[in-house]
Amino acid sequence: MEKIIIFDYDGVIVDSLEVYEKAVISAFNKNGFNQINSRESFLALFDGNFFESAVKIGIPAEKMPAIIKELEPNLLSLQKGLKLFDGIRKVLAVLAKKYNIFIATSNLTNVVKTYLESQNITGFKEIIGADKGKSKVKKIENIKAKYPDSEIFYVGDTKGDMIEGKLAGAKTVAAAWGWHDIGRLKEGKPDYIAKKPSDLLLVVEKPIRNIAVILLYNEDKKILLQHRSEDAERLPGYWAFFGGGINDSETPEKAVKRESLEELDYHLENPKLVMTQNFNGKHHDGTKYVYMEKFNSEKKIILGEGQGLGWYNLEKMKDLKIVDHDQVVLEYIKDKF
Ligand SMILES: [Mg+2]
Repeated sequence: MEKIIIFDYDGVIVDSLEVYEKAVISAFNKNGFNQINSRESFLALFDGNFFESAVKIGIPAEKMPAIIKELEPNLLSLQKGLKLFDGIRKVLAVLAKKYNIFIATSNLTNVVKTYLESQNITGFKEIIGADKGKSKVKKIENIKAKYPDSEIFYVGDTKGDMIEGKLAGAKTVAAAWGWHDIGRLKEGKPDYIAKKPSDLLLVVEKPIRNIAVILLYNEDKKILLQHRSEDAERLPGYWAFFGGGINDSETPEKAVKRESLEELDYHLENPKLVMTQNFNGKHHDGTKYVYMEKFNSEKKIILGEGQGLGWYNLEKMKDLKIVDHDQVVLEYIKDKF
């Protein structure tokens, strides 16, 4: 699956808090607004979308174009002494070689372009600033529409970034070296937290782990599901298929038979491969090999892993907590019994 990485700019790529704060306060003041008078009141603008937050504290939306216009020369002159965050240059170079990378920012396209050129940073497909739109949700959605089958990451350093990224359907990555601290970022429920720029590579380039799963089904077309324990490392509390990782020396079929013994004490006789599915999990990418076999009711099963099990037909499964990529499997196998 193709991957797209969309970056916020300020606080992720460039260490700009003081400069940006100064420019915003000055642009607000010049237009007659003095609501932003402390670091906290400035940071609070980024608990949500910057422009919506400004409206909420009493800055009318129709004043925004004038304020944005005011920001540009301020930022252009103030940003000259800015520094890139340690390590981000290398990370951007590595990612730009393999993936399409973008910037979606509330800064201005020309300001960002000018600075990145001065630093010899290239490789972005597009820089989408406030002059091209105010909603990061829409910016991310527009990119998504151009690359419909991609896995999309949004890397931001504020709670508002996490909220907007999630609303747009991206996997959100909290950059903990930026404007909001980890506690505040967590309020935006990020999918990943990167403590330093090089962690971004680990998030995007997850290790490969192929898995093999078994869907045992009975006379009534009910499928045996595992109820994962609440403290499971992956998918706690979810209903999932029995099965697990394929070891290096194993074929998928050998793995599914071994897993069935380990987790159910059940000897599979002739599991049939019905589909393979590439997945991008939270911690791993890989291929899932899906096997089916009709359950032999003369045999017993003994649960070896998870908090429980249950037989469910496809209709009943709709009420269970099942991860999206397993839902896709269930949809695919509905006439494979
Ligand atoms: Mg930022």
